[in-house]
Amino acid sequence: MIVVTNNEGTPGVPETARLLREGAPALAAIEAGIRKVEIDETIRTVGRGGWPNLLGEVELDAAVMDGTTLRTGAVGALKGFLHPVSVARAVMERLPHVFLVGEGAARFAREIGAEAGDNLIPDSRRVWQAWFEKEVPEASKRNWAEAPLIDLCRHAVDPEVGHDTTVFIALDGKKEIAGAVSTSGWGWKYPGRLGDSPVIGAGMYADTRYGACACTGAGEMTIRAGTSRAVVLYMKMGMSVEAAVREAVEDMRRLKGGLINRVTIHAIDTKGNHKVVAVNGNPQNTYWLWQDGMTAPQSLPAEIIPISPITAKPSPSMIYGAKRREQA
Ligand code: ASP
Repeated sequence: MIVVTNNEGTPGVPETARLLREGAPALAAIEAGIRKVEIDETIRTVGRGGWPNLLGEVELDAAVMDGTTLRTGAVGALKGFLHPVSVARAVMERLPHVFLVGEGAARFAREIGAEAGDNLIPDSRRVWQAWFEKEVPEASKRNWAEAPLIDLCRHAVDPEVGHDTTVFIALDGKKEIAGAVSTSGWGWKYPGRLGDSPVIGAGMYADTRYGACACTGAGEMTIRAGTSRAVVLYMKMGMSVEAAVREAVEDMRRLKGGLINRVTIHAIDTKGNHKVVAVNGNPQNTYWLWQDGMTAPQSLPAEIIPISPITAKPSPSMIYGAKRREQA
């Protein structure tokens, strides 16, 4: 048995480890862990407490995958529900579809009785309001409903700004593999923007025959490189989990133009091996590991591999995210 999560998994990884130890299936164990992350307001990039988009609305993305049946479910840009991971699981189990977005996803969440709630906590509202007052041009403020947002998108791509996801991948006692992810995406993103998290094969992929992979960071990059599916496919072609992740990093070096930022790739195989690599990462990049035999999950540093310079231009007056947390 093994579970790997990123650092944002802190509130949930003990629960997932406990459930795996008690014999729970991988998917149930990781869903329970992610629900704890989603409801934890101190995690500012997932669920309640997640940073809002440019309009000040929290739009959530999530996905699950059962590596034994290769069934999967995802929701994108879901507003007003506390546990997108469970809504994604219900998409998988109750619909002939795999992916719902926006109004349709919210309608489905209402129909299944998912827990509704306001994910914009007062601190996020305050920070968004302060940003709005300082950064939005007066003409746009006067006509906010139709204001141009393209230029304001620069605030989403500052590499120092807090954005993240939670990713959980696990192998259970029956040697079945599953993966799940949940995120508020990038704070100050263009409304309707989907990252890689709900895009199966980009932000996450799981196959009980070979292993699982899940990514955090600049979803635009892993969508372009098809990273999570590629890692599992490289393992199918005979590579070790470490070689497969390195090959996916090589794929990422081919990305030219567009957003180049940070990505962390987490992967496990069927034998309980794992590899976590932070592409363009920084030394604070840690992840959680629990394997049978361990009394508690352990926090470990990811291997850092620089690929190409980060192209996002920091905006000079960022007032939220990582810089803000440092000042706190
Ligand atoms: N991968 C997520 C996204 O692109 C965000 C992150 O993990 O930083 O939405």
